[in-house]
Amino acid sequence: MDNYDLHNHSTASDGLLSPTQLIELGASHGVQAMALTDHDTIDGLEEAAEAAGKCGIRFVTGVEISVSWGETTVHVVGLGVDPGSRVLADGLASVRDGRLGRAKGMAARLEALGISGTLESALALAGSEDQVSRTHFARHLAQVGAVRDAQHAFDKYLGKGKPAFVQHQWASLDDALRWILGAGGIAVLAHPGRYGLKPLGRATLLDEFKRLGGEAIEVVTGSHRPEEYATWRRVAQEYGFLASRGSDFHGLGESPAQPGRLPPLPAALEPVWSRWKH
Ligand code: AMP
Ligand code: MN
Ligand code: MN
Ligand code: MN
Repeated sequence: MDNYDLHNHSTASDGLLSPTQLIELGASHGVQAMALTDHDTIDGLEEAAEAAGKCGIRFVTGVEISVSWGETTVHVVGLGVDPGSRVLADGLASVRDGRLGRAKGMAARLEALGISGTLESALALAGSEDQVSRTHFARHLAQVGAVRDAQHAFDKYLGKGKPAFVQHQWASLDDALRWILGAGGIAVLAHPGRYGLKPLGRATLLDEFKRLGGEAIEVVTGSHRPEEYATWRRVAQEYGFLASRGSDFHGLGESPAQPGRLPPLPAALEPVWSRWKH
């Protein structure tokens, strides 16, 4: 089996391992090729590429762009992007720009709920103002015992519709695709099962994504339950999308799947890596 893992996070966004530690962990699990797909940043790519070279595995450049599609936040992964692309760098910077203001809003809501000091702590965990995410708030809330673990922080406070959730305007789908394609990458709709869309909304999103030049969807991902794989296999076949596989790993003890430790793609599908394998 081809052990490609094309969705992973590092400390450059909301992962717990440095790019080097992440690649070394994947290599120790026998991955052949690994992508780093941090949220709205390509800062970790250089270090990850170097680590992959040392470990003797193939490295695929990547990024996971936060998109607002109507009321729904959607994630689009770009694979094989040129790290030197100006259009991509500028676009990502514009998305990251909004994170501090949103974090202030979340902290104010938590404060109103009686939990103070979260902004400073989340910023310290994130290491940068333009990278601060809900994950950092969740880890802080778990560390101080406000919730039993980070997952519970989303369920109770930070998830959509919960009391500390702040609606935010990310990139448009149009822009995200333009930046990825402009950087020579392949656009992959990340974890399509996570958006809670009804059949009509789902079809509209998939049509629009395809019309804008999207070529692939994630089928086997740590963010899908195994019983969902068949649904997304059918969707990939119906729309003629290439299929991607990625753990969406953020950290040991935190993520459902570890790098390279996922079932294979269903045999009927054409893997996204068929595009650059040869
Ligand atoms: P943000 O970009 O700040 O909205 O944070 C999004 C990140 O939070 C995702 O990439 C996941 O790492 C994490 N996340 C989102 N929803 C959940 C959830 N329900 N449970 C656990 N982690 C989540
Ligand atoms: Mn994340
Ligand atoms: Mn995601
Ligand atoms: Mn991710």
